Amino acid sequence: MNTYQIAVIAGDGIGPEVMEQALRVLNAAERQDNFRLECKEFSWNSEYYLKHGRMMPEDGMERLKSFDAILFGAIGDARVPDEVTIWELIMPIRKQFRQYVNFRPVKSLPGIPSPLANGDHIDFVIFRENAEGEYSDSGGRLYAGQEGEIAVQNTIMTRAGVERIARAAGSYAEKHGLKKVTSATKSNAVIHANKLWDEHVSRVMAEEFGGLEFEQYYVDALAAYFVQRPQSFEVVLASNLFGDILSDLGSGIVGGLGLSPSGNINPEKDYPSMFEPVHGSAPDIAGKGIANPIAQIWSAALMLEHLGEHKAAKRILEAIEAVLTEGAVRTKDIGGDATTAQMGEAILLAMKKKK
Ligand code: ATP
Ligand code: MG
Repeated sequence: MNTYQIAVIAGDGIGPEVMEQALRVLNAAERQDNFRLECKEFSWNSEYYLKHGRMMPEDGMERLKSFDAILFGAIGDARVPDEVTIWELIMPIRKQFRQYVNFRPVKSLPGIPSPLANGDHIDFVIFRENAEGEYSDSGGRLYAGQEGEIAVQNTIMTRAGVERIARAAGSYAEKHGLKKVTSATKSNAVIHANKLWDEHVSRVMAEEFGGLEFEQYYVDALAAYFVQRPQSFEVVLASNLFGDILSDLGSGIVGGLGLSPSGNINPEKDYPSMFEPVHGSAPDIAGKGIANPIAQIWSAALMLEHLGEHKAAKRILEAIEAVLTEGAVRTKDIGGDATTAQMGEAILLAMKKKK
């Protein structure tokens, strides 16, 4: 029987509420599909920061290193600046564990209306470059506090970084029988970094993935196409900033944040990958037990997929779809009045019904 070591960081706000349901679901999946997860919980959140002056202990990264995967909830608290929560917890994990792929499925779910008038089924994935690009700490301020104040923020794109994300997207398409990869930049305006991206992505696609159709758009045009004809995409490939924006747009066109999962993936598997819902800690609804746990549960399914437990991952997604198809149990964000726990319970029941 396969056994996996899982680090669980539930985080702040609704993080622990939705995580509780994801852990119940994982527990049921283990028993049904015959594998074992050894979960260890780490209470590294804003509360921890207020007590210790740091987001994780000094040897935190060292302690996480040997896990097979990290299941993450959400982080964010009004008492702690966002720079701290992001740069001291999430970024070190993403960067040091070489999680250079941010993977987000954009998929219509049954019974969840899209805000788009064209109600056709939407099903594509976004590969967002997750380790370099526009989100860099390179830069600084000149003439701080003076009238002529200047900020410089450097975008860093490397040939190796561009090639590996292109390969990850191409390999995924091939492995899943998809036919087309779409890349987005703004190389007519961001002429240094984005041209490098365009050149090397198109070269890798031509040299290594000749069987796939490949197209390139300016990101502003692609944003419009996401709204006008989202059905025409299969694998979308974008840099850190553009991928971030397109991912939220993607989650918007299929029904919202409470339903959107993501993976921060290290394809080489030399360090753990991390799976987390797209939403944040949602302080406005935290503590009320009404958050939708689907994004967290689906993130746990992506984790199982990454670990190779395909059957269990499929079972969980099908259970989510069955509950939404039936429609009796819905949290507030999708038009019902069920609690977080009731939604978790309904998904558990649906899993058990599937042999
Ligand atoms: P953070 O600073 O942690 O990113 P935020 O408030 O900026 O928090 P989100 O936490 O993503 O951003 O929340 C945005 C909105 O979506 C909020 O109104 C929140 O209540 C709602 N929301 C987010 N996640 C869920 C969920 N799982 N279920 C229901 N509503 C949610
Ligand atoms: Mg936010």
